Amino acid sequence: MLPHDEPALGSPGLYIDGNWVHPAGGGTRQIHDPADGTVIAVVGEADRADAVRAVAAARAAFDEGRWAATTSEERAALLVRLAGLLAVHRDELARIETLDTGKTLRESLLDIDDVIAVFRYYAHLVTTDADRLVDTGNPAVISRVVHEPVGVCALIAPWNYPLLQMSWKIAPALAAGCTMVMKPSEVTPLSTLALVRLLDRAGVPPGVVNLVQGDGAVVGPALTETPDVDLISFTGGPATGAAIARGAAANVTRVTLELGGKNPHIVFADADYDSAVDAVLTGAFLHSGQVCSAGTRLIVHASIAEAFVAELVRRAALIRVGPGTDPSSQTGPLVSPEHRAKVEAYVALGISEGAVLVAGGGRPADPRLADGSYYLPTILDHCRRDMRIVQEETFGPILTVERFETEAEAVALGNDTSYGLAAGVRTGDPARGERVVRALRHGTVWLNDFGTYTPGAEWGGFGRSGNGRELGPSGLAEYRETKHIWHNTAPAVGGWFAE
Ligand code: NAD
Repeated sequence: MLPHDEPALGSPGLYIDGNWVHPAGGGTRQIHDPADGTVIAVVGEADRADAVRAVAAARAAFDEGRWAATTSEERAALLVRLAGLLAVHRDELARIETLDTGKTLRESLLDIDDVIAVFRYYAHLVTTDADRLVDTGNPAVISRVVHEPVGVCALIAPWNYPLLQMSWKIAPALAAGCTMVMKPSEVTPLSTLALVRLLDRAGVPPGVVNLVQGDGAVVGPALTETPDVDLISFTGGPATGAAIARGAAANVTRVTLELGGKNPHIVFADADYDSAVDAVLTGAFLHSGQVCSAGTRLIVHASIAEAFVAELVRRAALIRVGPGTDPSSQTGPLVSPEHRAKVEAYVALGISEGAVLVAGGGRPADPRLADGSYYLPTILDHCRRDMRIVQEETFGPILTVERFETEAEAVALGNDTSYGLAAGVRTGDPARGERVVRALRHGTVWLNDFGTYTPGAEWGGFGRSGNGRELGPSGLAEYRETKHIWHNTAPAVGGWFAE
């Protein structure tokens, strides 16, 4: 049974050493539906002592080899079993994700499908990934490079893609043979709690996977500032990421950071018009802009800018904002009233900086949406690169518009960011497309597409968007130590210190 179906709509919130346990301090947290503010669940809220217990369980499981000593085939089999269970519970999981985050059911179903795909991908990769033999020039020596699990991992995820982001971590961590403590966002823990139930059912040994649900500021340091954790994989905001990296430095703990983005979408005059309009709208307003790779910064050629923006404005007004559970909704609410307040402040800031509001800029008028954290798709035209609204991640449905004249100017604008997560380029000229995608300093660059990804290709950021990579072979490498074994099959006296 998944957490949402429990009669009390509750969960102890902690899974430690193979058992669901209540927080030692008895803390609880209410989880709200952003569509109407109602309480949808009450879950246990851990404190520091609970997190310390979870790390100790993961440490013991690793040190005793409960998972690291299994073969890659055994680990892959568990991932495949889990993927099967996820597929069986696809609809329930999607519903939980929609109630918790506000995103539409259509988006949640895509998320769950991607989660299933990532477990299958790493199950396959880990069984096909062989050790490497190195030719030393000495036939008596067998030189082998092998991979071993990095150890105990702290996996910390954000609220916008709760299950997806956690799966990008847990799938390669399990495949590699690591043990772990997961900390979902305290705002959206329900799908990760459900995932743990399925892991339990799939037969993960006790202590390999542990979960701590709680406030990041309270439980976070117990996960990130301890020598008992060997790797921290964090997805979230840049300020939190930087604080974690500082705390981890004392123990020289490995840190992978997937932070935010302020992602340019560059449209040349020769781009296919209809698909460009469509992609700019989707890139900016999907999940109400609460996407790390949202294309919130339109950089459009001056010769088409007026008509292009006018069409965006027309189309933005048609976007149906509503509850994620309503099949007619095209995008849902923001995750919380507090987050909406931040988005509203950003729109006011943009206008005060000289941007021109041409679409949205407020809450929907529909009284049925009054209790939810809704905000209309918003377009701010005539922006300049030095504005804060252009440089800072708003994490809301706000599209800024800048104009350019030359290719070099487009590239300069696209690279004028402290972030570097993702960018889009739209042009009908393949040579120009290749030049521009290579010149952009971003971890993912889409050419005549936007927002797509695949488990086999790396995901991560340049610059302040973080370090390390998720997905692809690099995503598995993050969770492994590399060991070189030098085996001399014909030992002989070297004679360096000969008598
Ligand atoms: P956040 O930084 O507030 O929180 C992320 C996680 O960190 C949460 O689980 C939180 O509880 C935890 N946390 C908070 N303080 C902590 C501490 N001191 N120690 C340890 N953990 C702590 O981010 P958010 O608001 O949940 O998510 C939004 C941010 O995530 C945005 O900036 C977005 O761009 C980013 N994001 C990035 C990617 C990516 O792939 N690069 C993907 C999704 C989201």
